[in-house]
Amino acid sequence: MQDFNEKPCYFQGNYIPLKNANVNIQTHALQYGTAFFGGIRGYWNPDQNNLFVFRLDEHYKRLKNSSRILQMNFPYSFDQFQEITLNVIRKGEWKQNVYLRPFVYKSALELSPRLHNVQDDFALYAIPLNDYLDTKKGLRAQTSSWRRISDNQIPTRSKASGGYINSALAKSEALQNGFDEAIFLDERGFVSEGSAENLFFIRDREIITPSVTSAILEGITRKSIIALAQQKGYAVKEREVSRTEMYVADEVFFAGTGVQIAWLREIDYRQIGNGSIGEITKDIQDTFFDIVTGKMEEYRKWILPVY
Ligand code: PMP
Repeated sequence: MQDFNEKPCYFQGNYIPLKNANVNIQTHALQYGTAFFGGIRGYWNPDQNNLFVFRLDEHYKRLKNSSRILQMNFPYSFDQFQEITLNVIRKGEWKQNVYLRPFVYKSALELSPRLHNVQDDFALYAIPLNDYLDTKKGLRAQTSSWRRISDNQIPTRSKASGGYINSALAKSEALQNGFDEAIFLDERGFVSEGSAENLFFIRDREIITPSVTSAILEGITRKSIIALAQQKGYAVKEREVSRTEMYVADEVFFAGTGVQIAWLREIDYRQIGNGSIGEITKDIQDTFFDIVTGKMEEYRKWILPVY
């Protein structure tokens, strides 16, 4: 198979090999983290000989919102964005699970960390990606000693590149302490999210997820799971979650584009439930994988066939 670095990405208005899409070290975004990005999955279905991109419209909306929050230009219509996305996949002849990274960054070569009157640019590249975290084994997580950045510091809702220093601090701490992932509390001490994924809890068959005011990224997987769970007839509540509620939950899972749906067996050395995947988590995880791989007719509206 062709090295993905040889495949085309979208950079400075052209489709060029990813290995040639390089920036100057003075680039504003490189110096200050003045960028925002997206993360989109495409799932290859060998039976249907097609690749399905998950919820491109929702990703577009979030990129637009980020551009508003961060005063960066994202001057594309949905149709233009879709065309660039499809071009990158088709020109690269991708026929495997793929991760797409749209990216708006302050491309000017200048000093002064500000947002206005600094030139920006849009790029989009693709890399191969299967599981980011194990979705089957049951993860062990740790409450981070690092607090989630608040909306009034670096808005997590904006998926700002610089904000991922916060994620990196927590992720490294968790891995270096022997855990699989970190769980952030917000500055008030309520549960927020993982380093790169949202969190769901199940208590007495009710599905609970921290609300959008708990310094989370408003995840597209999260939104999809809420809709799916409700359609399945589960009660879903978005609300503040206290730390020790995690320890007494019957089931806990992470949700995100990268992580997909991955269940937790342990948080802060407390076993979750009976230590195996919970019934509701399994139900949602199974349906989710069927949806993203194009196996569920009624959820075709959530996926875009590439070929
Ligand atoms: N929270 C954070 C901090 C993330 O980086 C991600 C991954 N984009 C998520 C949650 C999950 O969001 P989504 O489902 O849109 O990928």
